[in-house]
Amino acid sequence: AKQQAGAAVVAFRPGMAAAAGGLLEIEQALASAIDREEFQLDYQPKFEAGAHRLAGFEALVRWQRPGRGRVSPADFIPAAERTGQIVPLGALILRQAAQQLRAWQQQGLAVMPVAVNVSPLQFEDTGFADWVLDLVRAHGVDPALIEVEITETAAMTHMDRVLPQLARLREAGVGVAFDDFGTGQSSLTLLRRLPITTLKLDRSMVDPLPEPSAGAVVQAACVVAEALGLAIVAEGVETEAQAAEVERLGCTHLQGWLLSRPLPPDAAAKLLSEPSVH
Ligand code: C2E
Ligand code: CA
Ligand code: CA
Ligand code: CA
Repeated sequence: AKQQAGAAVVAFRPGMAAAAGGLLEIEQALASAIDREEFQLDYQPKFEAGAHRLAGFEALVRWQRPGRGRVSPADFIPAAERTGQIVPLGALILRQAAQQLRAWQQQGLAVMPVAVNVSPLQFEDTGFADWVLDLVRAHGVDPALIEVEITETAAMTHMDRVLPQLARLREAGVGVAFDDFGTGQSSLTLLRRLPITTLKLDRSMVDPLPEPSAGAVVQAACVVAEALGLAIVAEGVETEAQAAEVERLGCTHLQGWLLSRPLPPDAAAKLLSEPSVH
């Protein structure tokens, strides 16, 4: 059935591209959007389990497309990855995160680490890790204030390029998070070999909680994370029941709409300047 579906896609490709609004169209739009820097970062807070003290942020890119409003990253990151445009776009995103950290420092705020999503294509350039370190230092920012998030699948399929550079970043104090954990192929034993500091449990693992079999899997991941000295973040926490359950099962950090939506920089700065409110 899969092959038949594939054949149909080939046969109808021109029409489908037009129906989808045109892939080429978004690619051309992305190219000029990168030139014009039409992107902003929102910052979703991450909290410690238990006391719910602020522990840091995840930077999430937003495209403010003139005349069209906000485009979701789910709608343009895959296109940017297909075309390689994620490389200049990813560099722009990292620069914006470094600039934001510098700005918060200059405002006298007690800054917290910012995690940035990084595509495996960015690691194709073997100088990428050094470029990141130069960038951060040029902004007067401690490398420990930056974390990179790489998806489980991406790290697994580009291991030989990615691992040495993650190790390089780690040595300099940059945090490394293994993103969307639970959606890919990696085994728990493989984690031991990875130069990472944090596991991020995908929302698809958190969503079914407190269903017991889902809980058993989350608990196993937490046990391994703890034994390896890794932080473990539950992503996509939307309900009090999920929050209570991930804390009971051993997650060290929580992120999700229950605690906070992604915030524009001003609102994120406000959290940095306040005593913990959650
Ligand atoms: P991700 O890295 O897994 O990011 C988490 C996504 O879940 C974000 O969606 C976030 O807004 C959303 N989210 C957070 N809490 C909740 C919750 O409680 N419930 C639900 N339903 N969703 C929640 P967003 O911002 O639309 O980003 C989607 C994906 O786009 C990200 O998934 C990431 O893969 C990619 N992305 C976003 N920003 C960047 C970036 O700067 N660079 C790269 N390479 N990819 C990015
Ligand atoms: Ca992420
Ligand atoms: Ca994730
Ligand atoms: Ca995800």
